[in-house]
Amino acid sequence: MVGNYVYFCGKIMGDTDFIGKKLIEWYMINRRELPWRSTQDPYRIWISEVILQQTRVVQGLNYYLRFMERFPNVQSLADADEQEVLKYWQGLGYYSRARNLHLTAQIVRDQYHGVFPKNYEQIKSLKGIGDYTAAAIVSFAWNLPYPVVDGNVFRFLSRFFLIDIPIDTQKGKNYFMELAGQLMDRSQPGLFNQAIMEFGALQCIPASPDCLHCPFSDNCLAFARQAVADYPVKQHKTQTKGLYLYYFHIRQGSTTYLTKRAGKGIWQNLFEFPMVESEQPLDLESLLQNDLFAGWLPAVAVASFRIRIQNRKHVLSHRILYATFIEVYINKELAPNERFFPVETSTLEDYPVHRLMQYYLENSD
Ligand code: SF4
Repeated sequence: MVGNYVYFCGKIMGDTDFIGKKLIEWYMINRRELPWRSTQDPYRIWISEVILQQTRVVQGLNYYLRFMERFPNVQSLADADEQEVLKYWQGLGYYSRARNLHLTAQIVRDQYHGVFPKNYEQIKSLKGIGDYTAAAIVSFAWNLPYPVVDGNVFRFLSRFFLIDIPIDTQKGKNYFMELAGQLMDRSQPGLFNQAIMEFGALQCIPASPDCLHCPFSDNCLAFARQAVADYPVKQHKTQTKGLYLYYFHIRQGSTTYLTKRAGKGIWQNLFEFPMVESEQPLDLESLLQNDLFAGWLPAVAVASFRIRIQNRKHVLSHRILYATFIEVYINKELAPNERFFPVETSTLEDYPVHRLMQYYLENSD
């Protein structure tokens, strides 16, 4: 029978014990063997969870292994230079997460004698750790009963119970967290959390899940009503506007020029070429007349220009970036200035850069 239970006013009515049991049974057969699943070290669990918030498991695995090789424990991460941490994070995006990892490792080193606190609230108070990551750490490391609710869990629960509260609202987050907590198998919370996340990642996938071969095909309300594609429900459709970035790879002999991103943006402290930003696309002529660009090269002659990469698209949650890279040869070194500094072109690889710069460096030869 479908739906002989209902979630109402914060309580599940009906028999739902079978959900946790089936999830765990399914998990024991179908789970992927991943290195962070065979550890109870809160440091390793923490790093893996933050990496997996950035990327899919396949790509995340390489980042995790490299990161662990270089920073095998809290102490080594805390003692590292931020620039090196960013370099190891390069390509994952959301660099504030890497900065927070570094900062939190220093707090654990300095305030907790290098030992991760075991208390959920204390963990949640650390920089960059929210409900989800704190729940993952305490349930996987110490089997404490805190539910993890990530995109996979939202999707499975919203379909299974046909819940149309938007998942991108605080109300929705609280609702699903409460529900996941009530469904949780209290005798094995870590295993339950792993199972429900993996189920959403592999079986109850975003597009065209194989519902006919799902262990919940007899119980899932969305499947029964042929409404799987309508769940989960989101309230906000993010508005994305274009932004055009024009990077100048200024070259003189073996020298080129870099600048370090200041401010609080997502690419804070990463390195890039001097850049002109515009809400509208610009042609080469208007770029050359741009005050900013003209101000960089006041006393030198420009020998040649070449567009190396045009309108490379990079999608952020709130903007779509279009990056154009222009190689500019000049015949004399630039005078020292506060905006950018000379480096040997052969050392560009040593600097942590964002994804657009990385793309250019890998594809411009
Ligand atoms: S029947 Fe389909 S929608 Fe429902 S839980 Fe299974 S895979 Fe997800």
